[in-house]
Amino acid sequence: MKVHRNYSVDEIARRFGIHKNTVRNWLKQGLVTIDGQRPILILGRELLRFLTERRLKTKQSCGPGRFYCIACRAPKVPAGNMADCIPMSASSGNLCGICPDCNRLIYRRVNLTKIDAVRDDLEITFTQPHQRIGESTTRR
Ligand SMILES: [Zn+2]
Repeated sequence: MKVHRNYSVDEIARRFGIHKNTVRNWLKQGLVTIDGQRPILILGRELLRFLTERRLKTKQSCGPGRFYCIACRAPKVPAGNMADCIPMSASSGNLCGICPDCNRLIYRRVNLTKIDAVRDDLEITFTQPHQRIGESTTRR
């Protein structure tokens, strides 16, 4: 792949061994084409930028119900589909589970108000970091 060359959708599909529709999806996802060219042409440099950015994004955001295991270098569904949620503040917390492959603890930061977006079919136990005695009881 040469950064200063232009590539058509056909060429990109052939080069990567993918379907032309996949390349068209990339265009919808933000791959920029050279203005006013028909058939569509994409600059090699732009294609590289797009693919690099895309790889970073998929690495950072594991799908719902998955936590990134640093040891396995892969998103994992926690063992037993179970996780503890440790609130850090009113709106954020850490989900904590166990990697099914290496038995290490795996974490995922969550926005508590959007927890349903990541919980998938996980069974989440909400833990209280500190429950001070007397806090919830009325003093006389
Ligand atoms: Zn692991």
